[in-house]
This record gives sequence, C-alpha cells and structure tokens, in this order.
Amino acid sequence: MDYYELAKQYKTPFYLYDFDKIKSRFYMLKDAFRARKSQIFYAVKANSNLSVLKFLASLDSGFDCVSAGEIYRALKAGAKKYKIIFSGVGKSADELEYALKENILYVNLESEAEMLLLEQIASKIQKTARISIRVNPNVDAKTHPYISTGLHENKFGVDIENAKKMYIYAKNSKFLEPVGVHFHIGSQILDISSIHEASNIVAKLVKELLALKINLKFFDIGGGLGVCYKDEQEPNLYDYAQGILASLQGLDVCIGMEPGRFLVANAGEFVTKVLYEKFNSSKRFVVVDGAMNDLLRPSLYEAYHEIKLLAQSHENESFCDIVGGICESGDFLAKNRKLPSTKSGDLIIVKSAGAYGFSMSSNYNTRNKVCELAYENGKVRMIRKRESYEDQIALELEFLKD
Ligand SMILES: *Cc1c(COP(=O)(O)O)cnc(C)c1O
Repeated sequence: MDYYELAKQYKTPFYLYDFDKIKSRFYMLKDAFRARKSQIFYAVKANSNLSVLKFLASLDSGFDCVSAGEIYRALKAGAKKYKIIFSGVGKSADELEYALKENILYVNLESEAEMLLLEQIASKIQKTARISIRVNPNVDAKTHPYISTGLHENKFGVDIENAKKMYIYAKNSKFLEPVGVHFHIGSQILDISSIHEASNIVAKLVKELLALKINLKFFDIGGGLGVCYKDEQEPNLYDYAQGILASLQGLDVCIGMEPGRFLVANAGEFVTKVLYEKFNSSKRFVVVDGAMNDLLRPSLYEAYHEIKLLAQSHENESFCDIVGGICESGDFLAKNRKLPSTKSGDLIIVKSAGAYGFSMSSNYNTRNKVCELAYENGKVRMIRKRESYEDQIALELEFLKD
C-alpha cells in the first residue's frame, strides 16, 4: 500500500478499511458455527459506513441496530428487512413504531416498560410485534467497566425471573409474538468462559419456556468477541462455538450472533500526518493532524492502538506521546511509544481502528470529519467524502437569514 500516494490524492487524516479482511473474518465466524443454523447480525454501531454495510449485506449478513437511524442506514444499504434486529436500552416510541412499520425481524426488549409501550404501538397500527428479550445473566465479562454489560449493576437487559414473566405476558398478548432470546455481556471479551456461562444460564431459561409452550426460534448470543490490539490472544472460534453448541443440546434454535469489533477492528487503519515535534522540558510530543474527535478510543477507554511511523530515518528513537490538536489534555492517540525522530509530513498509521473509530467521531473544535477509503481486490476507492465547513454549518444557516 502506497500511503504517501493515498495521502497525496485524498489528503490526511483518513480511515482505510480492507474489505477482503472483513470478508475473511465474516466467514471464519460463520464457519465456526456450521454445525447449526446460524445468522450473523453485524453490529452496525462498530462501523456504520453504508459501503461497509452494503458489502456485509452482499455476504448475507443481517444487522443489529441500536437506533432507528441505524435501521435506516441498514435499509439504505440494501439489507433485507427480515435480517434486521433492533436492540438498545432506550428506544423511543417513534423508533419502535418505525421498526414495526418496516417489519424488521424482531425487537430485543430491555425492560417491561418498553414491552408495554411496544404492545400499545402495535395495537395502534394493528400489527404483531415479534420480540426477543435481552436477558442480563449477571455474569462478569472481565473487560473494561465501560464496555461491560452483563452484570445486574449494568443498565442492560432484564434479569431471568422478570424475563420469564415478560415472555408469559407476551405469549398471551394479541400484539406480541415471542420469537427469540438475547444476551450480550460486554465487548472486547478475551476470556470466553463468561460467554459460555451466560449461554448456559439463558439456554436453561429457553428450556423452561418450552415447558410453558413458548417456543423460541432465535438464540441470540450477542457480540463482544475480543480482538488483538497489542499482544492479546484472540479467543479460539472453535472453542467459542463448541461451548455455545454444548449449552444448546436438545434445543432446535437458530443461533444469532452480533459481532461488531470482531469483523471490522483489525480491518481498519487510521492514517494521520505529523505536523510538529515539540518538547516540554524533557517530555516529547509528536503532534499530528488527527485527534480525539477522529478516534476517541484512546481518550475514552485508554485504549491501545499499535502505531507505525512511515519514515526514512530510524534514528534517535525515544519515548513520546502522539497527540492531536484538540484543546483537551485528554486528546492523545498513543502514549509513551518509542519512535524515531519525525519530521513534518511523515505519516503515522494507527492500526486496528476499523471498529468504533469513525462511528464515534465528532466535530468537536469544528473539525471536519475525515474521509473513509475502502481497499478491495487490490484497489482503493473513497466511500465517504471528507466533510467541508459548509457541511458542518448547513443545518444552522437558516437561522442567519435576516
Ligand atoms: C455493541 C453491541 C454489539 C457489538 O459488540 P462488539 O463488541 O463490537 O462485538 C452487539 N450487540 C449489542 C446489543 C451491542 O450493544
């Protein structure tokens, strides 16, 4: 890959996604579950670019959406309605109505109050809402507290006993049809025993429901598979699948999966240009043209991304922080990394930035969102333009008319 050529053509910073890699990750996961019926519902929030969604739809992926906006995106990208599911702890009435009218596969309910609201909306528009319930199995995913979701102390899901009551209510409702069960206990999970533990707990619930003649078709195991950012050992997919399959013995269900990070993280890079080097006393900073508004993970979770400097010289290596130009001390892409001395114009590649990178980016400091590029079959193409200042102020212009 000639990054300097790309930088000349598209300017910096930019995101670059390797679609061939996304495809191979997709099939790795799909293959691990080939012994059973399964459906991948890609978690749109990880990377919601329409071209990424369209590419995944072409592989027969479904989509896990956490807002009506994401459902809108999935539909625009050509997703099949019956392969879209809707999750999230705070869905509004408008969003639920939109999902119902679009006739998506099912809604993952996260509370009793949400179920009652959905029933009301379904009755208003005279439709049956297919539902699944997100169970909070109270297991510890052993990941960063901000991305842990499967403990009762987290806001997500419904505990087992309440879930059971909700299923019974839904079965007796004219406007609700229970079709699935769901859990998602966290993200960047490296120790899959916690997922297996959750799977056992939830499978037991499915069996109890079966005894009550509530026959669920989808067993949705969420996402959360960890990837390698530094030196982490990724979970073995065979073991992952075997543990899930073991918990499902005697059940005839389709396994739903909601991978986000696993499919796209390692397939993406963030490319940024060195602006300046500076020393504050003995502390060395490399100031680049990308910043926390483009890639928030380091600032938000102290996440680690591998950094690669593309430069001729490899002299004078020393430790430095790679920082952006935002007016926040928390604005950094990497800390305490050993890099040779850099000069203005050198390119820095931030690795494994395909998930929760662009999709978390913002206009903070009125910086334009960067452009996104796709690499496929040996060719690079642009899949989102760099924003302009006009784009940024377009929605405010009408207030300036007089
Ligand atoms: C975020 C999320 C996912 C995807 O998580 P990853 O860690 O990116 O795989 C899946 N399901 C739900 C409900 C989510 O909120």
